[in-house]
Amino acid sequence: MSNHLFSPIQVGSLSLANRIIMGSMHTGLDHSEDPFGRLAAFYKERAEGGVALIVTGGVSPNEQGLISPGSMKLTNVEQLPSYKIITDTVHQAGSKIILQILHAGRYAKQTDLVAPSAIRSPINKFEPKEMSEQDILNTIADFVNCASLAQQAGFDGIELLGSEGYLLNEFTALRTNHRTDRWGGSLENRARFALEIIRAIRQKLGTEFYIQYRMSVLELVEGGWNIEDAQQFAKLLESAGVDLINTGIGWHESSIPTIAMQVPRAAFSWATEKIKQLVDIPVAAANRINTADVANKIIQQGEADMVYLSRPFLADPNFVIKAQQQRTDEINTCIACNQSCLDHLFNFKTVSCLVNPRACHETLLPKLPPAASAQNIAVIGAGAAGLSFAIEAKKNGHHITLYEANTEIGGQLLHAVKVPGKEEFNELLRYFRVMLKKYNINTQLNTKVSLEQLKHGQYDTIVLAAGVVPRLLDIQGIDSPNVFSYEDAFRSPEKIGQTVLIIGAGGIGYDMAEFLTHQDDNMQPIDSFNKSWGIDPTGLQAGALDPSVNRMLKSKRDVTLLQRKAGKFGRSLGKTTGWIHQAELQKCGVTLLGELNYLKIDEAGLHIEKDGIAQVLAADSIIICAGQESRDELTESLKNITNNVYTIGGAKEVRELDAAQAIRDGIELAYTLNT
Ligand code: NAP
Ligand code: SF4
Repeated sequence: MSNHLFSPIQVGSLSLANRIIMGSMHTGLDHSEDPFGRLAAFYKERAEGGVALIVTGGVSPNEQGLISPGSMKLTNVEQLPSYKIITDTVHQAGSKIILQILHAGRYAKQTDLVAPSAIRSPINKFEPKEMSEQDILNTIADFVNCASLAQQAGFDGIELLGSEGYLLNEFTALRTNHRTDRWGGSLENRARFALEIIRAIRQKLGTEFYIQYRMSVLELVEGGWNIEDAQQFAKLLESAGVDLINTGIGWHESSIPTIAMQVPRAAFSWATEKIKQLVDIPVAAANRINTADVANKIIQQGEADMVYLSRPFLADPNFVIKAQQQRTDEINTCIACNQSCLDHLFNFKTVSCLVNPRACHETLLPKLPPAASAQNIAVIGAGAAGLSFAIEAKKNGHHITLYEANTEIGGQLLHAVKVPGKEEFNELLRYFRVMLKKYNINTQLNTKVSLEQLKHGQYDTIVLAAGVVPRLLDIQGIDSPNVFSYEDAFRSPEKIGQTVLIIGAGGIGYDMAEFLTHQDDNMQPIDSFNKSWGIDPTGLQAGALDPSVNRMLKSKRDVTLLQRKAGKFGRSLGKTTGWIHQAELQKCGVTLLGELNYLKIDEAGLHIEKDGIAQVLAADSIIICAGQESRDELTESLKNITNNVYTIGGAKEVRELDAAQAIRDGIELAYTLNT
């Protein structure tokens, strides 16, 4: 890779060794028992991994700006020693760190919230109070105070969060700012609040103090501004003395995905380029930049001067150093699943990462020294659980033999990669393959290991990670030739007919519906994404939305998704991504039918009972996606070989099993063996 990503850059007063900024992330650690210690440990590993500049998670400049009660704030000098734990640690590790100032505005999940106008957000139940002139002046003073405290705490500067629909963005948007005073109306008036804050910080802290501004470029909401307004605002930011413009995409209340797996990589860097063309200060691109290649290309093509990556640093703290040393295939890539980061956050749990359960848990799962005595370990099953255990245990010094009945590794992940929009799971499989090779792990593919073999192997420990089997249903006619397990359907879609019934509307039922309806449109991924979500690729329409676009997609098959229970479909889907799956199915015309019982299957189709009435649903093919059962039948016999038998992943527990749980199980067992 040519070294665009690794050419040094001067940004304001900061000399940076490379073009990669570790972006701001909410971690949920603010609510932990040791927030600053754990945050320092989290940032330290990333700083040691070579990142040039770190941006903290959002910190409020006052009580009203808190995103929720108990979130981070920096409002007085008593808090400085806590923040110094972070800045000292990061500086000792060789990176720079800036504080992100985030005033949540009408997104604050608390009763005392404010906004330019008293308009409630559709994603918040709390109604904001309209800010008075005095409230506005006080808030400007709070921003300046926070920036000054950040400087005293040793931060190398600040980022002002002016995108995603938070307070600063609420002032610039007509959608949320209905004021008729000098803070509302014209763009100049709406920009005044942000510009006054920047000017006041400059006046107090001087020209050397580093200020980065995250502005909203594509709003992706009705009544949002267009790219020309964004360009004009960028010019105003530049003349007010901002050192770098970072480009935010979409509001949190937007009904267009902006960071999920379904969003193509670098889907919005074209919009960043439109800002870069107009200003002389450096500009950073963000959103769905998850590989060094994609990041490098953005810089190389001149779309941005820097890249702003957040979740990729949850997935791999050593992203930068691996990229710099041409070891990109060793990077544990963020697959944009949101499962263990944003979904955790919205479920009030500490953030982590599906592919790296140590993320934000560095002090709880510290780096271990090699095992005092190496064990000889057999691992049965090379799915997510077995693979992550095998790799971690080998790193810790144990001797591993990994048995897999299939001809390739991956287990259930091999189905996931076939689902449209879930191709990023291929990166996880690539990472596992590279790690097996790097650590020279004895992997026996195509081997249904026997008890005899295991006895011969003289293993100290056996780890059963044999995964799951699809649940068999007790319905008359289930053996009919037109009934398929989800495994069969993923393997041989050519056998599936035109009219399809899917029994079971869990995660796999939804995946199956997307898999079977998807029709390739032969467009470039970003063009196809823009069209299917109604994004105006010129950015010239309000909010960069094109309401004239027909979002319906051509569907390859007629699919009906069935569930027995009453109520909403898709309740088991991810908190932050479930709505995307729902929308995709709707676009493909998938029918949802619930609150029913299955009676039998015959040549007429699937007989069901709904609302007390028996009826027949005709189908060419019926696919069973009714959950799984553990493949754990070996457990008892293994105990005759050694006392040390452990069961992990789906073989242990299928309830609430997903790839995140399987990987976590594997890593945690490896830790248990060494502590
Ligand atoms: P699941 O989420 O447990 O869903 C299976 C569905 O089948 C249930 O919702 C249930 O709904 C139905 N069912 C269960 N027993 C049945 C029976 N005896 N007869 C008829 N229907 C029955 O299982 P899954 O879809 O296989 O997913 C497995 C795991 O992978 C889950 O933890 C899931 O979170 C994860 N996953 C998630 C995603 C995603 O979020 N996109 C994608 C793939 C997998 P009714 O009883 O109401 O019919
Ligand atoms: Fe990326 Fe998924 Fe990890 Fe979040 S949980 S950082 S989206 S891989």
